[in-house]
Amino acid sequence: MKELMIEHADIDTELIPILDQVSDPEIPVLTILDMGVVRYAKLVNDLVLIKITPTYSGCPAMDVIGDDITAAFEKAGYKVNIDLILTPAWTTDWITEEGRKALENYGIAAPLEAEADKDVLLNGKQIVKCTNCGSQNTKLVSQFGSTACKALFKCEDCQEPFDYFKCLK
Ligand SMILES: [Zn+2]
Repeated sequence: MKELMIEHADIDTELIPILDQVSDPEIPVLTILDMGVVRYAKLVNDLVLIKITPTYSGCPAMDVIGDDITAAFEKAGYKVNIDLILTPAWTTDWITEEGRKALENYGIAAPLEAEADKDVLLNGKQIVKCTNCGSQNTKLVSQFGSTACKALFKCEDCQEPFDYFKCLK
């Protein structure tokens, strides 16, 4: 069974395998557990109560996530009730270690901590590692990559472009 180190969440162990089937609609290699959007999942009487926090406000993916969670639990024979929690807001710190690895394998550089993130995006510091060759000789091309939460980088060694998942607090 998957090891979970999520400090901000309260999740029944028996529900983890079901939650783990639901992937993030924008980054399909990540599950919603990897992204850290599940805050609470408990079986109470015959009902599974779930609380999720959107990754960023107005994200249309959250509707999809809600539907996907409902489908996964109904398939496993559970009734489910899903609530959205908006505070505290989701931060990129909630992405699990496993999730960060999956991001990198997928070609998206995982978020740095807030101070380093600022150095990279505003001061042009070269500390984002290329997801293709590992070089730090990388250059910010655009503050916005394939989505608003990512920035577009290019590696000056292997010339590959890649996304960097910006730090969100
Ligand atoms: Zn490279």
